[in-house]
Amino acid sequence: MVRAEGVRKSFGRVEVLKGISLEVARGEVTCVIGPSGSGKSTFLRCINHLEKIQAGRIWVDGELVGYRQVGDKLHELRDREVCRQRAEVGMVFQQWNLFPHLTVLGNCLEAAIRVKKDPRPVATERARRLLDRVGLANKADAYPRQLSGGQQQRVAIARALMMEPKLMLFDEPTSALDPELVGEVLDVMKSLAAEGMTMVVVTHEMGFAREVADTVVFMDDGMVVEHGDPQQVLLRPENARTQSFLSKVL
Ligand code: ATP
Ligand code: MG
Repeated sequence: MVRAEGVRKSFGRVEVLKGISLEVARGEVTCVIGPSGSGKSTFLRCINHLEKIQAGRIWVDGELVGYRQVGDKLHELRDREVCRQRAEVGMVFQQWNLFPHLTVLGNCLEAAIRVKKDPRPVATERARRLLDRVGLANKADAYPRQLSGGQQQRVAIARALMMEPKLMLFDEPTSALDPELVGEVLDVMKSLAAEGMTMVVVTHEMGFAREVADTVVFMDDGMVVEHGDPQQVLLRPENARTQSFLSKVL
């Protein structure tokens, strides 16, 4: 579902992704772990073409992301095409996900009506079903500020699912939450994984990674240092940098 080959990304003269190659099969959950500044968020943003890359290629569901290839040259896609690609990929960030001036229901309807062009009744029906699914059926008319952080993140997930994405990207969705609210968000993500959603999850929740991930990727200094099944990477890491990182976080 996702294939990255040799992805390089620089900000000015600083190269923050130094040739990332990665594959995420359909229906699989890949957890990306690694120290602060290693490039995890930047890589996730590249998958959605929120960042332009300097080298390499990324495909989502077989389609080149952000570019069109003519001969061996890449041409950046027009905004409209980039939007269409992005609409197929859901993304949930650490925080500041929701539109503060819209209700929970309004947040869910926004993109579905405006971008996906669903008729309002169809979108409303789906929104209510998804809100029920994330345990927030009774909060449809609340505003984000009236919700806990955990509830807001569950709305953010429901809102992303409104677009019926092929792929969900999560960037530390629980790391801004009070500890007692983390579980309710992870539970929603677990159920999503169990239903077969393809997910790439940047997380510090090693328990979640161990339990839910099919593959764990350890990034350091803009590179994939180690990847494999969670048992191997988290419990029997081979690389010294992975070992050192895990000894600090576990
Ligand atoms: P964290 O765990 O703290 O979220 P991360 O692994 O997600 O870290 P990134 O946010 O991807 O790391 O950042 C990787 C590097 O790129 C960092 O050195 C960061 O300072 C730099 N960087 C990220 N975004 C930009 C930007 N827009 N302009 C310049 N440098 C940036
Ligand atoms: Mg980050």
